[in-house]
Amino acid sequence: MGNIFVFFDMGVPQIGCTDCSHCKSIMGKSLCSIINRGCCHYFPEFTLVDIQRMAALEGGRRALDMILSYPGTKVNRFNLYSTGHFDKDAYEKYMASGALIETGGIKDHTIFFRTCPFVVPEKGCMLPARFRTTVCNFFICSEIIDDIDDPKILEEYMKERSRYARWVYRESGILQHLLEERGLDLISDFTGAVRMLAEMYEDGYDFPILEPAAFGSATGTK
Ligand code: SF4
Ligand code: SF4
Repeated sequence: MGNIFVFFDMGVPQIGCTDCSHCKSIMGKSLCSIINRGCCHYFPEFTLVDIQRMAALEGGRRALDMILSYPGTKVNRFNLYSTGHFDKDAYEKYMASGALIETGGIKDHTIFFRTCPFVVPEKGCMLPARFRTTVCNFFICSEIIDDIDDPKILEEYMKERSRYARWVYRESGILQHLLEERGLDLISDFTGAVRMLAEMYEDGYDFPILEPAAFGSATGTK
């Protein structure tokens, strides 16, 4: 038994889960050389909302420097994309073997061979929660979701997660528009763009404090 819950890091919301530190879900399985990295097989894309928080909040410049100093980070005009480790040889051998993991609805088996560059095995993410992407802060695997006891509370979580993701998408679009109006982007003038994002920062989202949602009571599996 455990629960998922909402918490905030300098006002930035995240859904936490009591099982993540001892993950046993299929999504957290690793078949590559980097193990115990939970489901951090995602290659993060930092939106303008994420970058703006790094520009304005405490510790953000350090986080930004870390992302930029990683050689697999590509600076795009309006986002940063960090490609992590992919064990291609192991993946190809695994696919050729025909002995694939029973994944239920998961079709993409590359997840077992990929690792985000910012995860430290057994310790977790090097970035403070306030600078992680929305995907990182709101992902909960289907094994946990499917085991939530109360469907009404789960519905609230899913509804608020979608509402927040839509806000981040819209807000990033607005920031892009404002940068474009001033002839700025991250490629042509990174420092100028980041300075402007910092000047425009205001925390404009009021995420609700949802009650914790318990899972595993019925099945006793968690
Ligand atoms: S969300 Fe699921 S797969 Fe990811 S770390 Fe938590 S328990 Fe593991
Ligand atoms: S940025 Fe952090 S939370 Fe997101 S996938 Fe990478 S290590 Fe995990």
